[in-house]
Amino acid sequence: MYIDTHTHFNSEEFSENLPLFIANAKDAGVDKMIIVGWDVESSERAVKIANQYSFLYAAVGFHPENLNGLAEDAFAQIKKIASDQKVVAIGEIGLDYYWTKDEDARAKQRKYFIRQIKIANELNKPIIVHSRDASEDTFEIINEYRPTKNGVMHCYSGSPEMALNYVKLGMFISLAGPVTFKNARVPKDVAAIVPLKSLLIETDCPYLAPHPFRGKLNESKYLPYIAEVIAEIKNIDVEDIAEWTTRNAERLFGI
Ligand SMILES: [Zn+2]
Repeated sequence: MYIDTHTHFNSEEFSENLPLFIANAKDAGVDKMIIVGWDVESSERAVKIANQYSFLYAAVGFHPENLNGLAEDAFAQIKKIASDQKVVAIGEIGLDYYWTKDEDARAKQRKYFIRQIKIANELNKPIIVHSRDASEDTFEIINEYRPTKNGVMHCYSGSPEMALNYVKLGMFISLAGPVTFKNARVPKDVAAIVPLKSLLIETDCPYLAPHPFRGKLNESKYLPYIAEVIAEIKNIDVEDIAEWTTRNAERLFGI
């Protein structure tokens, strides 16, 4: 059994034939999935879908690339959506300096990130963190504002050393398709070094399909391919990866 801790089944790519994508994931042994929002609309859709299946859950929040033109009451809106019983985390939230070079815009990302960590703490929920080319600032904020229910560094792309710093704070490290890419050195080093008790897996579908499906539409059903590669790197049975990551996800998200 597997848990896909990060899907975007709320995205347009899945709007047709969603029940089929979900059934295919189940057939592949993916028994629970978390659908992650990136703005108000996608968060509402995540909650709506999660309420249609007992084994689906939702996360709600503002992705750092979706902060433009937010209404005054944006945080109140997210809080309200987060009150649904199927919402298990605040996310995805964080910093993206890869797409955002402007310093004012980066400052705004930090402000919204901090604010959403505070919301997660008020609501007693873990956070799902997106961080791209913003390793130092992301760590500093999490270290200072400490998510009380912890959280996960989703599709982790930082260094192995930084991964261990997060582990020390109680955060989980989640690996996605890139760990399977032939030329991807760093995610493989991360997979080797992160202890099993701190490891999660995800597809981040529809993005980043694992090898040998790279470049195609990603689906939750490909999750076992990611587990296989991590098992090879750690030189243990794939069943152990399945068991540890499932138990970790159940504990972190209370699912
Ligand atoms: Zn995502």
